[in-house]
Amino acid sequence: MADAEALFAAVLDATADAVMVTDRAGTICRINPAFHRLTGFPSDALVGRDARELFSEINSAEFCDELWTEDGDTRFYPSVRSKHADGRAQLHALNMTPIQDSAGQPSRFVAVILSDSFQSDAASGETRRVGYDALTNLPDRTLLADRVEQNILNAKRANKSIALLVMGLDRFTVINDALGYAAGDILLHEVAERLAKVIRTSDTAARLDGDKFAVMTPISAIDDSVIVAEKVLAAIKKPFTIRGEEVFVTFSIGISIYPTDGETFDDLLKDSLSAMQFAKASGGAGYQFFASDMNAKARNRLSLEKRMRAALVNKEFLLYYQPKMDATTGKVKGGEALIRWQDPQHGFIGPGEFIPVAEETGLIVEIGTWVMREACFQIKKWQDMGYEPIRMSVNVSAHQFKAKDLLDKVKSALADSGLEAKWLELEITESMLMNDVESAIARMQAVRDLGCGLSIDDFGTGYSSLSYLGRFPITTLKIDRAFIRDVQENQNTKEIARAIIGLSRGLNLEVVAEGAEILEHVEFLRDNGCDVIQGFYFSKPLDVKAFEAKLSKKAS
Ligand code: C2E
Ligand code: MG
Ligand code: MG
Repeated sequence: MADAEALFAAVLDATADAVMVTDRAGTICRINPAFHRLTGFPSDALVGRDARELFSEINSAEFCDELWTEDGDTRFYPSVRSKHADGRAQLHALNMTPIQDSAGQPSRFVAVILSDSFQSDAASGETRRVGYDALTNLPDRTLLADRVEQNILNAKRANKSIALLVMGLDRFTVINDALGYAAGDILLHEVAERLAKVIRTSDTAARLDGDKFAVMTPISAIDDSVIVAEKVLAAIKKPFTIRGEEVFVTFSIGISIYPTDGETFDDLLKDSLSAMQFAKASGGAGYQFFASDMNAKARNRLSLEKRMRAALVNKEFLLYYQPKMDATTGKVKGGEALIRWQDPQHGFIGPGEFIPVAEETGLIVEIGTWVMREACFQIKKWQDMGYEPIRMSVNVSAHQFKAKDLLDKVKSALADSGLEAKWLELEITESMLMNDVESAIARMQAVRDLGCGLSIDDFGTGYSSLSYLGRFPITTLKIDRAFIRDVQENQNTKEIARAIIGLSRGLNLEVVAEGAEILEHVEFLRDNGCDVIQGFYFSKPLDVKAFEAKLSKKAS
């Protein structure tokens, strides 16, 4: 223990970064020599004092409180002002880490001021980082150029794309004139903070000059850049409070893509700037791609989102039901509810076209709630009509599964329709479970506690570790149709399908095969002990009337 303490002290002494340790309340317990050098305060002048005093007045009170929030891991603040002992403010980056004691309780905070984040600026009296803009402490144009070129090299090797978004505030001169330049500076600083918050760690947000900012983001599809643009637009939509006044601002964003629009930073910047001018000319508060056919694609996506919202209101969605057959008796054992969209203008639209967009925009939560309710009411109706009860599954997307009110929604769908929980099954996919396994298991258990079935859809396509499978409180595994499709041609796939069936049986799970299209598929599955088969061989998804015709009446 004494060794550990001595080692800890030696590390603190040796590091060039300024380190301050506080208790939960923010009272300073310890600082290292670098902290003394960077802030000018000797240790005995600080220990025992409230660390907020170092940051107050020059930062907002909310910001000071946020520093000492206890949840989460290390937080990075790119631009923090702190007070130097001689009274001047200094600008630098700060890492804040909440520390837990051995019992897992929050006990301490470690604040680290990164040593490379300083450089004296004689003119302004402030200290600042090389490569960083003095006002916002975001990377400046030179550093952005560097990062973009670096990312271009990586992207070239990996055959990937990059988007460069350039954004200018609409009507910034009007705001500047109305509130004064100092207020304008505060606004720019706050805009920069919001920008830094919405981007991912792999992205770079920078200030180019004046009211112009930029974000560089590696992308795997054009849509990714639209998502970033929309996040940025949404982030600055909320009003800013500048000197007690609410200020509303918007961005015009221009987007260019490596390698389609340019292969160097200079080319991309030029393209993005001209796209931004175009966005401004089209009324601002929006984005434009440099390449015009991208605009058409983005508009399509946007109009799809609008049309989906309208479709919910106008009741244009409907459910089809695909039978799941008992492999031995050949009777309908259950079904899966699959959404369809009857658009008055564009006709019949399959889920492959709109579900991904609904997921990106979050609209899937509302759509999914509708699906769950509609399915519950329909199953109950069939039961009331005297048909043999069957279990129906509905697909639940990641957004829905993570939503806090998932259970409430399931409960009210059941209660309102009068359906018993055991006739409803939720289908989720592996990828939804792997991020945070423990909390996913808790959610799954809660669904099971209600009495509903729970299955893993498209099994085998995600990357779930088999070791978790035994811990997942599921009732059913659905083998992805890719495995069934190739069973004829590919010996390996066949073995995998066989192994999944064996695994499910070993774990006492029901196993459902998707996508059985021909007799050979069905025979293979039957021979290998797969209980339930869903696929075109037996039936395509059917509308209510056609599905009903497949149900058998209860013997009375
Ligand atoms: P999924 O959940 O894996 O649904 C099975 C899909 O396989 C359905 O496509 C079904 O028509 C298709 N299928 C069934 N048997 C066969 C077959 O023998 N051969 C072939 N080639 N395909 C077969 P569908 O209805 O187009 O749905 C596609 C996906 O859209 C679904 O995949 C599901 O992920 C999603 N989806 C559908 N409805 C909903 C919904 O209400 N909510 C959510 N979140 N997603 C949904
Ligand atoms: Mg499914
Ligand atoms: Mg599936």
